[in-house]
Amino acid sequence: MIRSDARRFYALRKVRPVAGKSNGPVDRHVEREEHHPMNYVTQADRMLIGGELVHASNGAFDLSIDPATEEVIGRVPRATVEDVDRAIRAADAAWPEWFALTPLARSRAMRDFGKALRARSEEILKVEVADTGNTITPMRGDVGFAVDSLDYYAGLAHELKGQTIPSTHENLHITLREPYGVVVRIAPFNHPLMFAVARTAAALAAGNAIVVKAPETSPLSAMILSQIARDALPPGIFNVVTGDGRTVGNALVQHPLVKRIAFIGSPQTGRAIQRAAAEVGVKHVSLELGGKNPFIAFPDVDPERIAEAAVRGMNFAWQGQSCGSTSRLLVHADIYDAVLERVVEKVRAIRLGDPQSPETGMGPVNSRVQLEKVLSFFESAKTDGARLMTGGKRPDGPMFERGYWVEPTVYADVEPGMRLWQEEVFGPILSVGKWRSFEEAVEKANSTEYGLTAAVWTNDINDALRMVRKIRAGHTWINGSSAHFIGVPFGGMKSSGIEREEGIEEMLGYTETKTINIMLPKG
Ligand code: NAD
Repeated sequence: MIRSDARRFYALRKVRPVAGKSNGPVDRHVEREEHHPMNYVTQADRMLIGGELVHASNGAFDLSIDPATEEVIGRVPRATVEDVDRAIRAADAAWPEWFALTPLARSRAMRDFGKALRARSEEILKVEVADTGNTITPMRGDVGFAVDSLDYYAGLAHELKGQTIPSTHENLHITLREPYGVVVRIAPFNHPLMFAVARTAAALAAGNAIVVKAPETSPLSAMILSQIARDALPPGIFNVVTGDGRTVGNALVQHPLVKRIAFIGSPQTGRAIQRAAAEVGVKHVSLELGGKNPFIAFPDVDPERIAEAAVRGMNFAWQGQSCGSTSRLLVHADIYDAVLERVVEKVRAIRLGDPQSPETGMGPVNSRVQLEKVLSFFESAKTDGARLMTGGKRPDGPMFERGYWVEPTVYADVEPGMRLWQEEVFGPILSVGKWRSFEEAVEKANSTEYGLTAAVWTNDINDALRMVRKIRAGHTWINGSSAHFIGVPFGGMKSSGIEREEGIEEMLGYTETKTINIMLPKG
């Protein structure tokens, strides 16, 4: 997490910044080690612009903080608008050559990039866990998912096909798919490296060059990613910038050379990006936003299975900070008490502690802002009359005095009029509500502005399919929760987003269609 406070860093280290002067590119093999205290989890502190590892043009840094201890664990450049401009110009200069490669050649480079990431996966894992607060066991999957996504899109590159259209018999009418050129990817804090790689792979396969904006509060893995991408990909094809959303994010969105923006984050920021983009040009903005996802339990399923799946679906291992968390558990009245009792038992058993330990079930939330947001939900739940079953406060004990800790929490009897029902917490709070008829379950499930995921649990396939068809959500599971599958589209309806990622349409979404009408001579 960033403390936007370069001065404090220099005071701590008793060194002075070089005002207004870029530290510039460094030798490809020699990193300068000075200024880095021993407790930094990574010494890497440079962005990637045009194939060079650089500091910000004015030498400013942001500090990143371990959410478990509030200690400074690294630093990243605070990019300037000038840095953003250089990154975009580098991408714009690089993409035509990348696009001119055969799909096979692009695929090979992407696979090499994946191998290089895998080779440093243990190092990335440690840094990512320290920087996000997410627990280590499930985070092991993040680099793997990123590399699998590179492999998947590398293998799809030959599917960037156009069409022949039989509009007239005597001529030829064909379409080509061409890349936008520069694609900007803005990433959220919960899985920073995974999103920076998995969610740029499709655009790379389609022949675009990328500028990634890392999140403010977990930016450190982006510094390692910069090193890996510099060595694995041609200069300018993959650029990484760090800094705050209002300056760096906005400069990316409003840059005249950027037409394609891909965003993962909150609905508020998504709308701000749409507005900012529309102010300056005609741009293609895809949005993967928040969720308040229902988990609908029918009475024919064993309450133990429901409870187990509902707790898993909450993703407590990364503090519920997941867009797809099934944070509204809607249980049929006949099994309500039985499910609730088991859910509470399982949530009480979640062990809070050091996120780097494989024994830990839940770490701290990601930042002070997140902590305050979660605490505010505890307050409103009390006012609204939700029944607190477990949690609802900060944990006791010396280990939790510093850091952004809250207890995993369950509220029962949550109803559509309550804030907890309507708003995404993006934190470790599970809300449980009751339904009696099929229609009531549908109405309650659909009664928020969100429409990202939904889980339906029943042994009756007819009930399951009827329910799934009625629910306004982009990604659903029958007798499942939480999992993503490579190649299966993911994305939201309603205020949860626009377009789908993770399948072939994501790759096609990074192309524009060009039509060629070949007018043949008559006769
Ligand atoms: P956020 O919207 O606060 O920030 C996301 C990114 O946007 C950050 O990199 C931030 O710096 C940048 N940003 C902020 N203001 C900007 C601006 N004006 N212009 C351009 N960029 C700007 O979100 P967050 O708190 O990092 O992440 C949590 C949200 O992300 C939740 O709502 C969650 O549901 C959502 N999310 C969605 C998915 C999905 O696939 N649908 C996945 C993960 C997270």
